[in-house]
Amino acid sequence: MEFLAFPDTGQIIEHMDAKILISAEHLHRYYGHHCAVQDVSFQLAQGEVLGFLGPNGAGKSTTMRMIAGTLAPSGGRITINGTDLLDQPRRAKADIGYLPEQPPLYRELTVDEYLHYCARLHRLARAERGRAVARAKERCGLDDAGRRLIGTLSKGYQQRVGIAQAILHDPAVVILDEPTVGLDPIQIRDIRGLIRELGERHGIILSTHILPEVQATCTRVQIINQGRLVFAESMDRLQQRLAGNTLLLETREPADADALRTLPGITTVESAGPNRLRLVFEGDNPADRVAALVHDKQWGLRELALDRRSLEQVFVDLTCSEPPAGAEEVA
Ligand code: ADP
Repeated sequence: MEFLAFPDTGQIIEHMDAKILISAEHLHRYYGHHCAVQDVSFQLAQGEVLGFLGPNGAGKSTTMRMIAGTLAPSGGRITINGTDLLDQPRRAKADIGYLPEQPPLYRELTVDEYLHYCARLHRLARAERGRAVARAKERCGLDDAGRRLIGTLSKGYQQRVGIAQAILHDPAVVILDEPTVGLDPIQIRDIRGLIRELGERHGIILSTHILPEVQATCTRVQIINQGRLVFAESMDRLQQRLAGNTLLLETREPADADALRTLPGITTVESAGPNRLRLVFEGDNPADRVAALVHDKQWGLRELALDRRSLEQVFVDLTCSEPPAGAEEVA
């Protein structure tokens, strides 16, 4: 197992010897004097779906565009599947599929016409194009839509066409900017399923405002705020962090806080309402010891659960210096 340190956050990420598909080192981007992205470094390995979160104006799109090769960084280095994006852009871009926030679709073309056109833009050989279009349509659930005009498709199907053009040339890396914006709940479920499936073969980075989307789709999450990475963790570690170190206990009879305090591992006992206590602990979860004491004392166990912090809470804590307009976008 390989461990990688993230200079911005001090976080350590584990890679199970997976191939590194994106390596971004010390990225900076200025617009005039304004520094929109400041010293951002991260990596993406094969099989990962990396969720890129941040409030409006945090620098997500700027970072995504730099990695997709459509915006030059002011400083730093980007390597795509081992190729330096700035030194060998054409070769590096052959390994990138990109769905911008506004999918580049031609409404007056049929799905087949459009995907064949994209296959040419991706420089696929003539003999390969038919196979590539058929494969991308099949993976995106567009088998029956080939002859439909793109302008007549629902937003969800148009998004599938946008993803199909991004994976047409079977790139190692797929970059999706806000892939589920404007879709209805069924379409969102379908597109998330598709992203998870694609994540098994490719490395995927997706930006989003929607926090449950990260929990439903991603294997890793990073949060950018005011141009800097402020958080980078695997989903497993994030779940552990969200699980926290507090138990909520509700009993039928009032429980004796002093008796609970004597249990090994429990550091603080606070009231959380009538017959409810919040128990802060360190080390292993002491729920079994708490349940045993409640049983012995016959206080009547009503509820005993970990007090989970939500991802939204973590997000707001890390980005609270943002103006309220950005916070409102958090779903
Ligand atoms: P996000 O995608 O997280 O909403 P962006 O990357 O679009 O953030 O923007 C980051 C910052 O850079 C914002 O302050 C935005 O106003 C600024 N910015 C983005 N694009 C430009 C541009 N073309 N010219 C000047 N400033 C820009």
